[in-house]
Amino acid sequence: MDEKYIIGVDIGGTWIRVGICTPDLEEENIKTKISKTLKENEYSISKSVIMLISELLSENNISRDQLIGIGLASAGPLDVEKGLVFNNANLGFKTIPLQEPIGQVYSNCPIFLINDCNASILGVYYFEADEEEKNNLIYITMSTGIGGGAICNGRLLLGKEGNAAEVGHSIVEPRSIHQCNCGAHGCWEVYSSGTGVRNRALEALETSNLEAKILMHLVDNDKAKITAKEIFQAARGGDKFSKSIVDNCIFYTIVGIGLVNNFYDCSSIYFGGAMMKDHDMILSPIRTQYKTSPIQFTINHPPEIKVTKYIDEIGLRGALAFVKYKLEGNKIIP
Ligand SMILES: [Zn+2]
Repeated sequence: MDEKYIIGVDIGGTWIRVGICTPDLEEENIKTKISKTLKENEYSISKSVIMLISELLSENNISRDQLIGIGLASAGPLDVEKGLVFNNANLGFKTIPLQEPIGQVYSNCPIFLINDCNASILGVYYFEADEEEKNNLIYITMSTGIGGGAICNGRLLLGKEGNAAEVGHSIVEPRSIHQCNCGAHGCWEVYSSGTGVRNRALEALETSNLEAKILMHLVDNDKAKITAKEIFQAARGGDKFSKSIVDNCIFYTIVGIGLVNNFYDCSSIYFGGAMMKDHDMILSPIRTQYKTSPIQFTINHPPEIKVTKYIDEIGLRGALAFVKYKLEGNKIIP
């Protein structure tokens, strides 16, 4: 009758996902809903979250009083003290308040805020990592950008403001002419994120002598339609130009993983994000490199390279795990 529930929310540039579950996080008890991320004003996101939660409650005959915690995982940067997102390039506004508007409606339960990659690593830890690897674990998303989360010695690594493990801004080519959104040159995400792959292809099309027939056919000869998806598809079909762009994406991911392993000495790295739809192309050569000759890229013993099985849902699952850990005072959360 008085069963308790927790809510997990994953806020991304394109989708908002909300899930409800009993605190035991049994797979079969997770119910989810999804909606497009609206960007009409800075309260659009909190309004959508409130609406999705209330739909989930009514569809499952759960009352507000049964909620014992809400976890909000969002693309950052976050100001956890003020409960908001600031300076995010994809969400549309300089500041996006989350905790205050959502807290007004759900005032009876605590609300916890965490960046989406830190949530995701908790999701991997709880739902899929095995005992041997889980205490030294890295999660890396390759999507619009590249982000990361880290668990070291069984503790989530947060840093002074909750923004540790910004692996996508590791500089893999310091004298690069390519500038990142962050302002630096030669960040890993400049070469290997979805946006990076697209931008590098658009530039190279101007100067390259390699054949790009298959790629141009896929986009009806309209360069504006090129995205990472078409570039990978064309490379798969033998397009030499696209293959060279994909090779660069892979090379710099090998460099990036080497840095990550030097810094965190991790047992496993789990990959997620939209680019993992092509994980066979991206990760196979990386696994080979780290099996046969890791020393060129990392001094520590190389990690296992894996893909999360919850590609679209890992952030949401992580938000649920985060609430569970907060409520039970689990030592994984610093
Ligand atoms: Zn950067």
